Amino acid sequence: MKFSIMRSLDTKQYPSLIGQSVEDLESLSIALGQPSFRGRQLFDWIYRKKVDDFTKMTDLPKSLQEKLKVYSLHPLKILNTNSSSSKKTQKYLLTTKKGMTIESVLMRKKNRATICLSTQVGCAVDCSFCATAKMGFVKNLSVGEIIDQYFQLERLSDTKITNVVFMGMGEPFLNYKNSIAAAKLLNHEKGINLGARRITISTAGIIGKIKKFTKEKHPFRLAISLNGSNHDQRLKIMPITKNQTFQNLLEAIKVYTNQSRKRITIEYVLIEGINNSKKDSLKLIEILSQIKCKLNVIPYNEIDSVYKRPSEEGIHVFLNPFKNAPFPVTVRWSKGQDIDAGCGQLATNINEQYR
Ligand code: SAH
Repeated sequence: MKFSIMRSLDTKQYPSLIGQSVEDLESLSIALGQPSFRGRQLFDWIYRKKVDDFTKMTDLPKSLQEKLKVYSLHPLKILNTNSSSSKKTQKYLLTTKKGMTIESVLMRKKNRATICLSTQVGCAVDCSFCATAKMGFVKNLSVGEIIDQYFQLERLSDTKITNVVFMGMGEPFLNYKNSIAAAKLLNHEKGINLGARRITISTAGIIGKIKKFTKEKHPFRLAISLNGSNHDQRLKIMPITKNQTFQNLLEAIKVYTNQSRKRITIEYVLIEGINNSKKDSLKLIEILSQIKCKLNVIPYNEIDSVYKRPSEEGIHVFLNPFKNAPFPVTVRWSKGQDIDAGCGQLATNINEQYR
């Protein structure tokens, strides 16, 4: 990174500062002829004090403030905001510098304000029930583009963000390095200082990366989109199951929970006639009883006419057998469906990407 900042100085392409680590900002200070501690001061202004005007960074010398003027702080710009009828959920449309659009969601519940961040423009995983999949894969978001969603949403909503979930557009584990770096910046004790247990990364089940995440002992919470009770059923709706088999995925999950001693969240999108039979609930109980987990059932949010959301009664029938399950079960009654901000409903118009 040191090198890339130097290079970008040479080529006069200035990176946005949101997304840069302490070390990056130290290198930048040195490159601008200042001692490295100025970089730590800059980090404090950006991430802890959340000041986005260099002239207000009062302990930096005027000469440095002047030199910093060529840099922007925010890699993203807000284009549009949409609020659900209950006013509890807001969806934000943001654009990268190159004009690619992404969506982020803010959800309020009691004293919690959770934001759902995107990690990619589009997605390569191709789950048949997800709107983002229909866009195909466009690009990985940079660390700054991931974390700026936090800064922008907090400021626009004037709400203190208490929780972050990496569950927006894209597959965080196919943009592993940037997603982890963004989570680390959210968690940094000298910066935003959001507790690691308030940061959840959700993956469609990229097994190699689950193993890496386990080995690297990250403190963040992990969620896996299981979405099926057996291999063949999952394969039909999540084609990645072909190479990332159901059995191998369960093995990787077990190794994670054993080694991290953490409870994993298993997400299960409930789709009428696909994975919501009594047999499915019994099989799930059998499988998940062997794993330190919490089950989060997500009633399917309709994106087209291919799949149907089970009726409310149907959802309760499915949930009934779990009453005696040895693990907690929650239902995500997505609140933002009227503005297409429910799970799996995030997609931006690809034709507009390169306007
Ligand atoms: N790629 C990551 C994160 C994004 S999806 C992952 O797969 O985990 C976030 C969650 O929304 C996943 O659990 C996914 O299975 C679920 N989801 C996708 N489409 C949905 C839809 N139409 N209705 C309800 N949940 C959906």
